[in-house]
Amino acid sequence: MRLVLLGPPGAGKGTQAARLVEKHGVPQLSTGDMLRAAVAAKTPIGLRAKEIMDAGALVPDEVVIGLIDERLGASDCANGFILDGFPRTVAQAEALRELLERRGLTLDAVLELAVDEGALVDRMRKRVDETRAAGGAVRADDNPESFKTRLEAYRAQTAPVSAHYARRSELTKIDGMAPIEEVTAEIDRALSSAG
Ligand code: ADP
Repeated sequence: MRLVLLGPPGAGKGTQAARLVEKHGVPQLSTGDMLRAAVAAKTPIGLRAKEIMDAGALVPDEVVIGLIDERLGASDCANGFILDGFPRTVAQAEALRELLERRGLTLDAVLELAVDEGALVDRMRKRVDETRAAGGAVRADDNPESFKTRLEAYRAQTAPVSAHYARRSELTKIDGMAPIEEVTAEIDRALSSAG
């Protein structure tokens, strides 16, 4: 199972990815999580990425492509992976194709969680409230200003990635406004018809 999950910030990619990990036993590769780990560990990549991420902008393509290249070679990816938050630019999508080609692999599916933009800010606020209530640390980019930049980056740089896969007839759209269980069921159906 080699899968890409696309969708704006707050679309529910992380929630659905966690369910797919359980069901299919393949790892979730989230470039956001990898970068946050690099920031926390103060690695050279983390030091380079921190300000960009806090502001809500995109980290340079070569940085995330390098992270994914390294990760795809790990033994736990032998049976597949769920990419969450990558590719986020058309250049990343092209790089992914090359990285897979080099390994003799192709994607099984590219799923886009489509969500009304108006719902996204509310979802972000809800996530912040829930994290606080649970005593957790709120993400530095989960604030109204950075979230606005994240949505702008999505519109300008990531929406063209959906168009890129749609042109190649590789894209399946999923209604991300439905309740979580229904989204999961729709993803299951899309994956069984993808074979
Ligand atoms: P979101 O909840 O907005 O989908 P992520 O956790 O996926 O957030 O990513 C958080 C931040 O990490 C992004 O705003 C961006 O700065 C950086 N990032 C993550 N993935 C990528 C990527 N593929 N290309 C460039 N930057 C990325």
